Amino acid sequence: MKNENGLSQTLIKESNKRKIIRTLWENSPVSRTGLAYLTGLNKATITNLMAEIVAEGMVTNVGQQKSSAGRSPNLIMFNENYGICAGVLIRPHIIVASISNVFAKILWQKDFLYSEKDDPIDVLQEVASMLREGVAACSEISTRLLGIGIGTASLLRQSDDMMYAVHSTTKWYNVPIGDFFRQNFKVPIWVDTVSNNAIVGEKYFGAARNISNAVFLSIGNGIGGGLLINGHLYRGVSGFAGDIGHFVVDPNGPQCRCGKRGCWEVMASALALSGGTSLDTAVREAESGNVAYITALNNIGQNIGRGIANLVRVLNPQKIILGGDIIVAGKWVMNPCRTELQTKLWPFVWESTQVEFAGLGKDSAILGCFTRVIEQLFCLEKVA
Ligand SMILES: [Zn+2]
Repeated sequence: MKNENGLSQTLIKESNKRKIIRTLWENSPVSRTGLAYLTGLNKATITNLMAEIVAEGMVTNVGQQKSSAGRSPNLIMFNENYGICAGVLIRPHIIVASISNVFAKILWQKDFLYSEKDDPIDVLQEVASMLREGVAACSEISTRLLGIGIGTASLLRQSDDMMYAVHSTTKWYNVPIGDFFRQNFKVPIWVDTVSNNAIVGEKYFGAARNISNAVFLSIGNGIGGGLLINGHLYRGVSGFAGDIGHFVVDPNGPQCRCGKRGCWEVMASALALSGGTSLDTAVREAESGNVAYITALNNIGQNIGRGIANLVRVLNPQKIILGGDIIVAGKWVMNPCRTELQTKLWPFVWESTQVEFAGLGKDSAILGCFTRVIEQLFCLEKVA
């Protein structure tokens, strides 16, 4: 019995400590009285546990709060320099490596261009060197690398973080992405798709805050999806849920890189622009009055809406968030997308469906990578 009681005391203490850390991260700066109110713990418990949290370097005191009556309480601040988080986004031809503080504020970032002809492990070695360079560049903030969040624009088998087909060349099939980073960095590693990371970023810091059911569409040279269902990521049985770019919307449509015809992504992303034109160029042309580009962007918007209508029928989400390169296309795609949805959905369904661009702009996915580290270490209510 004694052991049993001893064990439960330890568990209660650990649970209370996690509650305090979470509350500090979410509400800092906060007074001890505020902390007691927010956690529901008594002040003696807080004083005991705060001694441990202070010793671990997780908080700092920041002066006094102005108070209308009596003594002014000291405010406790979560130490934003407690450590650094790393994020890596692996996309076709470009990899982004980035370092943030514990509030996902970007401190350092660098891009790396590569070819699908390159050996994947050689490319990852370059990325590892870049990350070490980033860690060194942030050493004045902190030398403590807390973890690495990785996002891949590919299918990803959840059981072993195996990356599939970021390129259509077989060289880039079966890349053991998690194992590589675990062997090269002795810190916790989280691997997920770009779109799953993006919706986690948006859930904590952007357009999905306070929302439990949302779909993130990462639209650039292709379409990826991240699904937030009842407040948590939905990955399916093996991690392949959200591969929505290859919904077939027109069996007689243009050829897709996957071998099929008329996939959603060839009709509703930058791939639909002729001759490899970028979205940036198309938008510049549209803004100068070029009718061909206005039409091309409007068609992309309409096709985005067509696919979203099907997703809404299946999932009935509160919000659809459009992120990635498509953000530059603004009204040129958003207006026809909304018009299409209005036409395709029942009015009472459309009324409760919001469609908007990512709150974090193009940073949704990288901030999501940092958040994977942050939510685990600071005991947040996990989305992922
Ligand atoms: Zn396809």
